[in-house]
Amino acid sequence: MDGFVIEDPVFASMVLPNAPLQLLADGFRWLEGPVWFADHEVLLFSDIPNDRIMRWSEAGVSVFRSPSHFSNGQTRDGQGRLITCSHRHRNITRTELDGSVTVLAERFEGKRLNSPNDVVVKSDGSIWFSDPHYGINTDYEGGKQQAELPARVYRLDADGLAVVADDFEGPNGLCFSPDESLLYITESGVQFAAEPRRFIRVFEVQGKSLGPGTKFHKVEPGFADGIRCDENGNIWSSAGDGVHCISPDGKLLGKILVPHTVSNLTFGGRNRSRLFICAGQHLYAIYTNTRGCAFK
Ligand code: MG
Repeated sequence: MDGFVIEDPVFASMVLPNAPLQLLADGFRWLEGPVWFADHEVLLFSDIPNDRIMRWSEAGVSVFRSPSHFSNGQTRDGQGRLITCSHRHRNITRTELDGSVTVLAERFEGKRLNSPNDVVVKSDGSIWFSDPHYGINTDYEGGKQQAELPARVYRLDADGLAVVADDFEGPNGLCFSPDESLLYITESGVQFAAEPRRFIRVFEVQGKSLGPGTKFHKVEPGFADGIRCDENGNIWSSAGDGVHCISPDGKLLGKILVPHTVSNLTFGGRNRSRLFICAGQHLYAIYTNTRGCAFK
């Protein structure tokens, strides 16, 4: 099967030999934050250095929001509202159904967040996000600014913001298991370090907090940035050579090869079986024979 690496025979049933990787659009700078709107059959995604959120549909590509304040990770809440991480404004916002934008979080204990990177919403409405320093380390991804807080993972609900993990050097992508009993978080380490700490960790969700994290899987080549779970609990991770599929027990099942470094991905399409892939300056998609989690 051209374009795939089958590490475990089960992976051959999860992809389709007659559905190769398809380039949807290119000419961007660095893409992340794909989020699918099934109700409109539209994908929104962040073109971070160009300071804009783009909109893709079968009809073409257009600008959804500019400036986006260097938006990065995005998702939708249970009411379908867009939730967005902003590097430049160092916050989490919600786009209301009337189009207005509400800031949900920008400070913790009086200090500014760093540069929220990726975000997921649990079915109880709580918002979980990573807050590494990447977006304030460079002008390219948001603008150099002084950090005021360590890199952490936060949970936001009606009671406010709470730290759920603080032993990361650079927390990045995150996703819940289908039953939400587990939260996977990627560690992409200290930017510009000679040997950054990079692997996927898994945490038991204990009510509003997390149990101790354990090392789940190390993605190579490259590293894990954005991740998504399918409905069977497999983890689909960004990697240097494409998208890697990892079983719930941490075993690499196979790869979808992509000619550029993959940053983020998400399931979409009419059956949540189409995988949308942000890879550098390019937006790709591929139909799979699995389906993404219904809510995440
Ligand atoms: Mg990320």
